[in-house]
Amino acid sequence: MSEDILIYEKSRPGRTGFSLTATSAGDDAVDRLIPASFRRREPAALPEISEPELVRHYVNLSTKNHHIDKGFYPLGSCTMKYNPKVNEVAATLPGFAQLHPLQPDEDCQGALELMYRLAGMLTDITGFARATLQPVAGAHGELTGLLVMRAAMIKRGNVRKKIIIPDSAHGTNPASVVIAGYEVVQVKSTDRGTLAASDVAVVMDEETAGIMITNPNTLGLFESEIVQIAKVVHAKGGLLYMDGANLNALLGQAKPAEMGYDVLHFNLHKTFSTPHGGGGPGAGGIAVTADLTPFLPSPTVEKDGDRYNLNYDRPDSIGRVHNFHGNFANMVRGYAYIRQMGAGGLKEVSENAVLNANYLMNLLKDRYELPHDTTCQHEFVLSAARQKKRGARASDIAKRLLDYGFHAPTIYFPLIVSEAMMIEPTETESKETLDHFAEAMNAIDKEIDDNLELVTSAPRNTPVRRLDEVRASKTLDIKYVG
Ligand SMILES: *Cc1c(COP(=O)(O)O)cnc(C)c1O
Repeated sequence: MSEDILIYEKSRPGRTGFSLTATSAGDDAVDRLIPASFRRREPAALPEISEPELVRHYVNLSTKNHHIDKGFYPLGSCTMKYNPKVNEVAATLPGFAQLHPLQPDEDCQGALELMYRLAGMLTDITGFARATLQPVAGAHGELTGLLVMRAAMIKRGNVRKKIIIPDSAHGTNPASVVIAGYEVVQVKSTDRGTLAASDVAVVMDEETAGIMITNPNTLGLFESEIVQIAKVVHAKGGLLYMDGANLNALLGQAKPAEMGYDVLHFNLHKTFSTPHGGGGPGAGGIAVTADLTPFLPSPTVEKDGDRYNLNYDRPDSIGRVHNFHGNFANMVRGYAYIRQMGAGGLKEVSENAVLNANYLMNLLKDRYELPHDTTCQHEFVLSAARQKKRGARASDIAKRLLDYGFHAPTIYFPLIVSEAMMIEPTETESKETLDHFAEAMNAIDKEIDDNLELVTSAPRNTPVRRLDEVRASKTLDIKYVG
């Protein structure tokens, strides 16, 4: 297939993708205007190709990958919702896109106002006192939040050593804890898949800085003892961190600050409109209680009358966690999204996300084991244990789904469910799409009995067949040698 060759192989000497008429400056304008020392001695080694060939090359490549504009993407824990394209238009408005991050405050009043307002909306949604938008990923928000907690503890003269994390936690949680200089103490979830305040009480002591809890947790279950857990942790002088990656289930329903949390990170790119999935860019701002506000990263955006400015004069701040102001385009998308939805719209987002997840869970639970058989929030976790006994693992089922035109769910996470398949449909999918996905999952289950090899050798219909994933990540080689 011609689109399978590299763009360099399509290159023909002298072919160009543009045509410009001569300017009044004359043919030698470049030579005259740009000093010789700044000019290339040889032309850059770029492919020489016509515009339509160039467009087709990249359009064809773009359709080889799965993406949300092409099909359903039920990747649990990631909230791969469809993002309104109008937010892209907002993010590329020249007044935003062409701002230089070093421009003085008076030149970027609009951008500062947007950041100030967005932080205010996020604190309204979650009930906290203040937010920063500087961290550029959820994991980065975790680290920032833990450093804020640590700074507050140091200020109180009470440095502590440990942070409690449930066994259902996302892998970034323990990693952030260790980078922030703490030890991880694990607490087991109960058979119900959630935490018991009595189990937290056993491990919570005066050496422990606090606890990190995702809510709803990675099984898609609401941590219903959160208020009691907050009491246990606060009574020993600890703080509660909420991993807010699953905030899509709570929008307009409940405010984490009122549950007793002290810090929360947002994944703007999951909950508040930014296409993601290729690894970035993200935005992982955090919100905190009034007590923790002095420790937030600098600078903060402040409002003074009708003017906005960046405030660096914050003696207790943990300092900067990123160059400039964070991933600003994500903030524009998030702001546009929240404005577009309004409070009522956000409430509907979470209601429909939860409804869709429960609908799909009920279509699948006859054929696939559902270890925690209860109403779920925005996602649910199945086990392919029964299928494994018949010869196909969760990874085989995930690969076979690609042949049906769907992205696979998250598999083998959370770790507490064997052969886990974590499915998050999101609010933006129709009943018909959910029905088709369930039909495919149930058809695959049948294929395991009728034609096992079809499943274990999948995928068959994708541009490349089954890859050696270990080799791909251990000996990554992306250099083209022509
Ligand atoms: C996605 C996710 C994170 C990490 O967020 P990134 O933006 O990918 O760094 C943390 N916790 C949970 C539960 C998540 O789903």
